[in-house]
Order: sequence, then structure tokens, then C-alpha cells
Amino acid sequence: MSSDSLATYVRGILTDIGEDADREGLVKTPERVARSLRFLTRGYEQDPKSVINGALFTEDYSEMIVLKDLDFFSLCEHHILPFFGKAHVAYIPTHKIVGISKLARLVEVYARRLQVQERMTAQIANILMEVLEPQGVGVVLQAEHLCMRMRGVEKQNSIVVTSTMLGSFRSHHETRQEFMSLAANGSLR
Ligand SMILES: [Zn+2]
Repeated sequence: MSSDSLATYVRGILTDIGEDADREGLVKTPERVARSLRFLTRGYEQDPKSVINGALFTEDYSEMIVLKDLDFFSLCEHHILPFFGKAHVAYIPTHKIVGISKLARLVEVYARRLQVQERMTAQIANILMEVLEPQGVGVVLQAEHLCMRMRGVEKQNSIVVTSTMLGSFRSHHETRQEFMSLAANGSLR
């Protein structure tokens, strides 16, 4: 679908909510919203595997690698309203490591789609498990959901925490604990 037809839909939404889509302030809004939506959902056009595959290194390192406090911004698929917060990603390699910046890219690829936080958490963990074949992977996401806050749902200030633990992060209590305490440190508000 072209950006133009998306703009046409946005114009329809403006009219439907009772706006005058032709008034000065709104004339360019459909185009802007269309562009903005394309940007916020550009993850659909990006292949997570190729993000990682481009930066794999063989390395004899078997300690935990943690990338914490990564900002992410996503859209909930139920209301198309933002949810955003911090991602913490960790793994223990067997023989392959990936460039740190690619972990950030990977989170971005999954965030820039319509999402539910639980699925996004699992997707990040699963792709790392599959491509890196590490001893284990842990992913924790902490996020605020504007669909809760703006719509007056109870517990407005709550932060939703989701986690996926695979391999040694699932089977070894101490590994999981080490990661969880690293992730929680200083990032919870
Ligand atoms: Zn929602």
C-alpha cells in the first residue's frame, strides 16, 4: 500500500472523529501521520536474522554478556498506542558472539511493529537462541503502556515487566538471578 492511501485512511479517521480535515492545522496531518506510522512500523521490512548474521564473531568467551537499559518504543497491537521502556538482553555464548550494537538493532526491529510486550520479549530471546546457539539467553522488558495510562485503566503508573529465559538462564537459578539483579539495578523507577 502506498503512503498516499494510508494518508487517505487517516483523513477518514479525522472526519469520523468529528474533525474538519480541511482546516489549516489538519491539512497536512494525514501525510504526516502516514509517514510517522511507516517509520514506527518499519520493523516489518527488516529481517532480524540478517541483522545478527552480519556481525557474528567466533570467540572463546563463556561469561554472561549483558546489554541493559536499552530504550525501546513500540506500539501495542490492541490500541495502536505506544508502550515504551527499557530492554535488558543477556546471553552466555558457547562459541559465537554478536556485535553489541546489533543487539540494540535487534530490539529495534521487533519494537517497530505492532506488538504485545510478551511476544516481543519472546521473539528477541528466540532469535538469539536460534542464531547464536548460546548456553542461554535472558530478555527482560519493562514498559509503560499508554493504552493503560491514557484510557484511565487502573494501576496507571504500573510498569509491566516481562521476561523470557532460555537454556541455562532457565535451568540455572543462579544464572537467572545474576541477570535479574543486573537488569533491575538502577533501571526501575
Ligand atoms: Zn493496548
